[in-house]
Amino acid sequence: MTSDSLSFADQTRHAAPIAPGSTIGILGGGQLGRMLAMAAAQLGYCCHIYAPDGDSVAGDVSAGFTCAPYDDTGALAEFAAACDVITYEFENVPVAPLPSLGDTPLRSPARALEIAQDRLAEKRFVEQHGGTPAPFMAVESEAEFTAALERIGTPGILKTRRDGYDGKGQWRIMSPRDAEDLTLSGKQLIYEGFVDFTAEFSVILVRGLDGEIRFWDSAQNDHSSGILSRSVVPAGAAVAAQVPAARELAARVAEALGYVGVLTLEFFATETGPVFNEMAPRVHNSGHWTIEGARTSQFENHIRAICGLPLGLTDTIVPAVRMDNLIGEEANDWMSLLADPANHLHLYGKAEINPGRKMGHVTRLLTDGHG
Ligand code: AMP
Repeated sequence: MTSDSLSFADQTRHAAPIAPGSTIGILGGGQLGRMLAMAAAQLGYCCHIYAPDGDSVAGDVSAGFTCAPYDDTGALAEFAAACDVITYEFENVPVAPLPSLGDTPLRSPARALEIAQDRLAEKRFVEQHGGTPAPFMAVESEAEFTAALERIGTPGILKTRRDGYDGKGQWRIMSPRDAEDLTLSGKQLIYEGFVDFTAEFSVILVRGLDGEIRFWDSAQNDHSSGILSRSVVPAGAAVAAQVPAARELAARVAEALGYVGVLTLEFFATETGPVFNEMAPRVHNSGHWTIEGARTSQFENHIRAICGLPLGLTDTIVPAVRMDNLIGEEANDWMSLLADPANHLHLYGKAEINPGRKMGHVTRLLTDGHG
């Protein structure tokens, strides 16, 4: 049988493993890339970072670095020629120039990026696979906004379809009065109903090149001003009851995408079951606890998956784990954080502290389930 006559799934299944010593390219230069590169180094790989900003905390710990815009097709081709496999840590990498990567495999697939970059496409895709998002409508004009407010009502949230993260590009509409003050200026937006949730949680899975799927325990997540502040494992009873349905959905999504690597889906736990919020085709902040708290971290398993290696076990190794993000000035407390022996401190090495910027995180393994 020639490779032309194999389905895509068969071709990946038969793909040779990418051996330690090879070079992994990472599109994106932030802390997720940094932690991926550190996990890759443990397994004997070299990483080459591609990012448009020369000040890259992933570049700081990697052997290779290309500083170029994401749409520079020449630079992308040269980068790909230096890499044995390419992955991404930033979900807003433009998809159109990616064919310039040529024959170097891109894992996770570009299709996952394409869908996750657009909140509308993402919600429709997940709905097609049996998920339930909050009621939503696309909004591109005042008339569409009025129609969405009439159909969905208030409270609700108006969000930019693209490029929003950590609560940016979102407007809470508590009453029709709030809507009057907004100027839409032709942006592509989505209006969604406000979900009355008991808790937020995430499902993080890894899917290998052979299609095997493993899940980490689901963390219960607290947000402050739209930014993740804390993840705790195990999640409370309200979340635990909804994890099986959420996992089934996440697995269907991963399979439909022919996904390879770590995939995250975020949910609201509600009285009527899990409501899908958004997906990230990458390692996720709510999985940072896995570095110390799970048998294999999300970073290591992502590297294993994209290189076609056997996946590591994902079970939690202690009764409970808590991860707190260090946002802005909180990272300045490193001395007192280090003075507590129960803390595992991670600082991302960012030169500039800004309010709302993720500067690091602290993980605590809780042997008695408290603390
Ligand atoms: P997002 O960027 O869409 O994940 O939103 C950031 C945070 O805002 C979420 O984790 C929630 O805490 C909150 N949020 C977003 N959308 C909704 C919604 N439809 N209903 C209630 N809370 C929401």
